[in-house]
Amino acid sequence: MKNKPALSGGEPVREDFLIFGSPRIEQDEIAEVVDSLESGWLSTGPKVEKFEEAFKRYIGCKYAVALNSCTAGLHLSMIAAGIKPGDEVITTPMTFAATANSIIHVGARPVFADVELPSMNIDPAKIAEKITSKTKAIMPVHFAGRPCNMDSILDLSRKYNLLIIEDAAHAIEASYHGRKVGTIGDLTAFSFYVTKNIVMGEGGIVTTNNQDYADKIKIFGLHGLSKDAWKRYSDEGFKHYQVIFPGYKYNLMDMQAGIGLRQLEKVERYSRIRQSIWNRYNEAFKGLPLSTPADPEPNTRHAMHLYTVLLNLEDLRVDRDAIQQALFKENIGTGIHFVALNLHPFYVDNYGYKKGDFPNAEFISERTISLPFSAKLNQKDVNDVILAVKKVLRYYGK
Ligand SMILES: *Cc1c(COP(=O)(O)O)cnc(C)c1O
Repeated sequence: MKNKPALSGGEPVREDFLIFGSPRIEQDEIAEVVDSLESGWLSTGPKVEKFEEAFKRYIGCKYAVALNSCTAGLHLSMIAAGIKPGDEVITTPMTFAATANSIIHVGARPVFADVELPSMNIDPAKIAEKITSKTKAIMPVHFAGRPCNMDSILDLSRKYNLLIIEDAAHAIEASYHGRKVGTIGDLTAFSFYVTKNIVMGEGGIVTTNNQDYADKIKIFGLHGLSKDAWKRYSDEGFKHYQVIFPGYKYNLMDMQAGIGLRQLEKVERYSRIRQSIWNRYNEAFKGLPLSTPADPEPNTRHAMHLYTVLLNLEDLRVDRDAIQQALFKENIGTGIHFVALNLHPFYVDNYGYKKGDFPNAEFISERTISLPFSAKLNQKDVNDVILAVKKVLRYYGK
């Protein structure tokens, strides 16, 4: 019975469920939260400022503005960059909804350009085909942590005078040709959502080398109050603020920033853990009906956020969803990154996208599965994932 998947009546490889993307939280992060609660700085306070300083040093950029999500960061980046109704922004369909939605939130139109295989990143040649007189910006997403082809994207931006606003939700550690992601485009948004490489639960940050953008994002993220309004109740004494824009409530809490400060100290250690899981998976999956992620490109650093395999459906008796369900029955949680946005009803109904528009993104959509890949995994967890994948793919193979 050992080789029979639990979905078909066998025993699961593990007894307890392995949650996909479970964060690694240690005692020092718990202590930070307690410290914030005891200090009384529950909302934006000194830890947020400290986190911004620490993140700026890590990335090597001039400005960093912390917010309560990457989505907020993308939205405010659009506003700061002056993207408005009637404008077009080119992005990838192989991403999370937040990327395209931030374009829509300022009244602009998300224009998708297909991705390359095997990188799964936006194809610069396809971007070039989509540029019109309305195009104002390119929004690359560093998929799974793999930096996009930024040389070609920078060339397009210079040639057509387009801004580059990067979705680096997966890509904290990434660098491209010696430049850290977060210092390349005009604005870059990072995520500290619970599944990301470093976590706060919820949280995000925008990096830029442009002071005007940084000032705007800071102000727009807190009701549009003039700068440093959060200090008005501090021991520096009350200062009047002025409302200069009908801004948003996107500020980060000190409790979240405290978690982030401790997480940022561990970013390289956690990255090494994921690198070793990556190597073990690559080795273990040889000969199975799937393709493992492409190796990182030379002279780049892949942030290794997701380990996504593509199933060889031609060699399997069942589809991807059935494989995912079979892994679930083995007590292994997985993710799907992503079903291409052009296949989701909102973008179909409002922009006329349809199946067939982006063959590479759709190829990925049908075949992709992301395996557990967090720094929290121990050796047994990794072994269990490997056992389950082998068992399920061998059983359902042709
Ligand atoms: C997670 C994610 C986001 C959104 O991040 P939040 O911090 O949850 O707002 C945006 N883009 C991509 C590609 C993501 O994976």
